[in-house]
This record gives sequence, structure tokens and C-alpha cells, in this order.
Amino acid sequence: MTSAAHTARLLIVGPQGSGKGTQGVRIAESFGVPVVSTGDVFRANVKDQTPLGVKVKAIIDAGDLVPDELTSEVVRDRLAQDDAAEGFLLDGYPRNTGQVAHLDEFLTGRGESLDAVILLDVPREESISRLSQRAQEQGRTDDTDEVIAKRLEIYERETAPIIDVYAERGIVDTIDGVGSLDEVNARIVAALEARGLVRQVTA
Ligand code: AMP
Repeated sequence: MTSAAHTARLLIVGPQGSGKGTQGVRIAESFGVPVVSTGDVFRANVKDQTPLGVKVKAIIDAGDLVPDELTSEVVRDRLAQDDAAEGFLLDGYPRNTGQVAHLDEFLTGRGESLDAVILLDVPREESISRLSQRAQEQGRTDDTDEVIAKRLEIYERETAPIIDVYAERGIVDTIDGVGSLDEVNARIVAALEARGLVRQVTA
């Protein structure tokens, strides 16, 4: 029972290195919604050495998942802000079935639900090569070979199963993530428009 006037409530999922961060930003802009990226929130807190940042730094550096309750609290706080009232694009959350349950509870309580889950499909070799390129460009502390392997393994074990949950609800759009930024972006936009979602900015 989603309100008629809302813009779009979206989730983008894909393995690390699938390009979901970049695509997520563009899609959010087109559909006029804020990006809610748990990875970005955690990294900003680590950088500013906030109490949350101090708590999660070692976990993130090791490539492990931050505990569900803590992560879900961060997301609930963010989604409660005014700019997320009519829509949002989640990137990196939920990451396991426990977090799906937390998000369901939160959204149901507001009379909302996700409109679409964009699954970026990229072969493993491609995401690994994109990740090592990003490691050289951005110097993220969790982009070492060992930590990358662990994060991909956690993705396959914990995150991939959430796709089945959403597929049963009929809201997953699987998008071929191989191609130029513009090509992949056009595929996502077409899939969302096919669901009746309306772009706010036609850039
Ligand atoms: P990302 O930029 O999405 O790859 O996230 C970077 C790191 O932040 C992950 O490897 C985790 O340590 C942590 N993180 C981000 N999102 C979540 C989440 N939904 N649940 C638990 N940990 C997360």
C-alpha cells in the first residue's frame, strides 16, 4: 500500500565492483530521490572519528559486516529525514535477510514498500578487475586483495539470498551490468519506467 504521489523507493544490489555506487547516484538523480548508502555513511563516520565511526572502523577494514541492529538503526534514522519521505535509493542495505526483515518492518510501519530492486549482473572476473582498479584510484583501506575476496564471499553467501526474497515479490529487475556507464544507465531507466516509475529529471 504505497502512496500514489511518491516518487520511487528503490534498492540497488550487486557484487562489489559491479558499478552500483556510480549507477545508483545517476538513477537517484534522474528519479529525484536521495541516495542512502550505508558504506558511505560508515566511511564518513570513520573519517570524522565519530563514536559510530570508532565502533565500526575495524569491522569495515576487515571486510566484515557491521552488526544488523546498528546498521538498521543508521538506515532508519536516515530514512526518517524529510528528503526521504517521498522516495529514496538504498545502496548497500539490506545486505542479508535479517536486514530485509528490519527494513520490511520499518517500511510497513510507514505504509510503504519498495517499488523495485535493481540487480546489477556482472561476471566475477569483471568485478574483481574493476575493484583492483578502484583500489589504485581511491586507496580505500578495504580494497586489498584479501579483503576484496572476503567481501565478495560475504556477498555470495549473505547478500545474494535477499534477491530471492524480493524476486518472490516480483520487484527484481536484473540488469546486464557490462557496458558503458550510459548503456547500463539506459537499461536501468528502461526497466524502472516499465514499472510505471517516472523520471523527475530527463538527464
Ligand atoms: P560498501 O561501500 O557498501 O561496500 O560498504 C563498505 C563496508 O561497510 C562493508 O564492507 C561493511 O563493512 C560495511 N557495510 C556497509 N553496508 C552494510 C550493511 N548493510 N550491513 C553491514 N555492514 C555494512
